Amino acid sequence: MIDTVVVGGGPAGSRTAALLARDHDVLVLEEHETSGVPMQCAGLISDDVIRMSGVSPDVLNTLYGAEVVFPDGTSVIVRSKRPKARAVDRSDLDSKMAAAAMDAGAEFSYSDRCSKVVFGGDSVSVKSTKAERSCRCIVGADGHSSMVSASLGDNQPKEYLRGIQADVRVELDNQDLFRIHLGSEYAPGFFTWEIPCGEFTRAGLCTSWSAGPPNDYLKHLLRSNGGEDRIIRRYCGKIPVGGRRIMYGDRCLLIGDAACHVKPVSGGGLHPAFKAAPILADVLTDALASDDLSAKTLSSYEKRCRSDFVGELNKGMMLRRMFVRLSDDDLIHAGRYASRDDVRAILDEIDLDHPSTVVREMFRRPAAAVSAVPLLLRCLF
Ligand SMILES: Cc1cc2nc3c(=O)[nH]c(=O)nc-3n(C[C@H](O)[C@H](O)[C@H](O)COP(=O)(O)OP(=O)(O)OC[C@H]3O[C@@H](n4cnc5c(N)ncnc54)[C@H](O)[C@@H]3O)c2cc1C
Repeated sequence: MIDTVVVGGGPAGSRTAALLARDHDVLVLEEHETSGVPMQCAGLISDDVIRMSGVSPDVLNTLYGAEVVFPDGTSVIVRSKRPKARAVDRSDLDSKMAAAAMDAGAEFSYSDRCSKVVFGGDSVSVKSTKAERSCRCIVGADGHSSMVSASLGDNQPKEYLRGIQADVRVELDNQDLFRIHLGSEYAPGFFTWEIPCGEFTRAGLCTSWSAGPPNDYLKHLLRSNGGEDRIIRRYCGKIPVGGRRIMYGDRCLLIGDAACHVKPVSGGGLHPAFKAAPILADVLTDALASDDLSAKTLSSYEKRCRSDFVGELNKGMMLRRMFVRLSDDDLIHAGRYASRDDVRAILDEIDLDHPSTVVREMFRRPAAAVSAVPLLLRCLF
């Protein structure tokens, strides 16, 4: 019997497999022919995230900050002296992470879609395109619409965002900043991004689910930057935010989008997934060693995730709930507020992996905090 079947050969699955395969048999089931396709990601990540991935993906560009454009067309530039983020080739990241997991001893079965999981007393039966196998435990790393997560009962994320993106043959003047548009005309309930990658620009956006399909918003964004007739490729995807009811069960653990480990403020899922992977590997290694794979024992995974990074995701969800209450007029006021020197100084140092720390910094500076009160009240009521 296989020790662990990991469903999903994306970054969460590959990182988990790489860590577990040191001591156990691990089989990764991936429905596609290879890892990294189709790409559904802007690939904007911090150096910390690259380090945690365990590989060196191709870097397309280094970004030092952002130009944030408000609904009245005014903009604020937030810039740091240090690199804020790298735009990486996400397909390359996924392929390299899968290769690293194979090097560590994990086996990958491609074009092998898991269709059914049945939990028995002392094993899990996993049915997929190619075979029916038994394993001691299963890891659901099967993304936003995880079937492993659904096998634990009602386990939908609190909210889904709709994401859409295109690489366009447009060269932006400013190559060290990405541009963000806020407001209902561009991206209701979220924001757009235009990431300069030399000769092309990666332009995309997310919207709240209630805003409907995001195609027209993408067209609008591409009209504004001259990319409408210069599309190289287009992709779209769902982003789960706000957490799921549960991230473990008897002989089962969830990770990545399958566990809703995603930052609600930015839609970034790689940082939380890579924070979760070593915790999962630790908990599962102990559980396999003691042959106790009960939900009670595996619950320490959720406890440790909560004390490590889930608090930041929850704060992010609070910020998101406040953000979606803001009208375009409120966002224009926020733009005026953000252009103050003392506020910009705080925003210049924003840590993309811990965005809620900005709020703490604001409240450490009385003048900035007092001026934020009217805006804050608008968010709350
Ligand atoms: C438009 C967009 C832009 C984004 N930009 C960023 C960004 O800039 N930075 C960032 O950090 N995050 C970003 N994200 C989020 C990020 O892409 C995800 O959080 C991340 O991919 C989650 O990794 P994962 O391994 O959990 O899931 P996935 O990457 O979705 O991998 C899951 C894998 O499981 C496979 N699978 C699913 N079901 C089965 C099955 N039944 N059997 C076998 N295989 C299965 C899938 O084919 C897939 O390969 C973005 C998302 C979108 C949609």
